[in-house]
Amino acid sequence: MRSKKRILTGLTFCLLLSGCLSLASVRTVTSRGKTYAPLNNVAGYYGMKVSQKGENRIHIRSQWNTLEFEVNSRRCWINDTLIWLNHPVRKIGWQWTLENDDFKTMIDPAVRPYAFLKNIGSRIVVLDPGHGGKDSGAVSPRKVYEKLLVMDIAKRVRKKLQARGLTVHLTRDSDTYLTLSERAQKAARWNADLFISLHADSASKTAKGSTVFILSRPGCYSTHSYGQGAPPTTKYPGNRFDIANAVLSYRIQQNMIKKTRQKDRGVKHARFKVLKDAPCPAALVEMAFITNPQEEALVIRASHREKIATGIANGIAAYLKDIKRAR
Ligand SMILES: [Zn+2]
Repeated sequence: MRSKKRILTGLTFCLLLSGCLSLASVRTVTSRGKTYAPLNNVAGYYGMKVSQKGENRIHIRSQWNTLEFEVNSRRCWINDTLIWLNHPVRKIGWQWTLENDDFKTMIDPAVRPYAFLKNIGSRIVVLDPGHGGKDSGAVSPRKVYEKLLVMDIAKRVRKKLQARGLTVHLTRDSDTYLTLSERAQKAARWNADLFISLHADSASKTAKGSTVFILSRPGCYSTHSYGQGAPPTTKYPGNRFDIANAVLSYRIQQNMIKKTRQKDRGVKHARFKVLKDAPCPAALVEMAFITNPQEEALVIRASHREKIATGIANGIAAYLKDIKRAR
């Protein structure tokens, strides 16, 4: 009886959200051996409306969600959060299209997380403060050490998640050195349900903003190496969680930017060691550029570090809520 009621509630949700029964699959087109989802069909699939915004942007929106695609580009925004696709939105024949793989592994999981996360764990969170000990990570002009900053953030996030009744482990809780392999091994030993590696960026003085990285998909370029050589096809342990990674990273980026108001550099793809080895859904957060004078000043303030931590904790909580809803 109870499960019947749950099924009915779920069905009502689907109907409300999509306004149609065509959710089985989106209508695709094929070109040179690749499958594409025309944006018009994506809109139809969700029961959403399409409109063109200026020369370069296409909007798909409903009462609940807004998707915005930049044409001939890998950038798209899901409810205003920047997501880097693996392939550019391009014109095939007369229609603008998305590679179907991007639709299935990035867009649809972010728009309908409840349809994908049924068998994903939600109890044990492992936070991984990057670097430590002899490895300082980045050091800013005013001597902000990445290894100490991310430790501070990890402890703040832990406190917030514990207050929500979650079990939280830190791969290190003092200034000690850990190899990258040890971090994933610890997560595996603790039966982690999700793994978040915490970092701060460094580059030129002008670079700024926050990024969340997830493991690149086999056969796809990393966001920064697009177009150089053939993309690696190796499937890593972390690739078992590509769909959950998409939802997790989207939720963290969405909530972190909402809280900190820092520049949104988006969800990106990379083959970082901790993401490749992750025994569970995983993301790597680059919270700010400490080599940027404004962001360095921000992270020196405890009140701003509290905002970063709140954003990350809220993102994790939103992802866990998606999992609950999926069940
Ligand atoms: Zn780092």
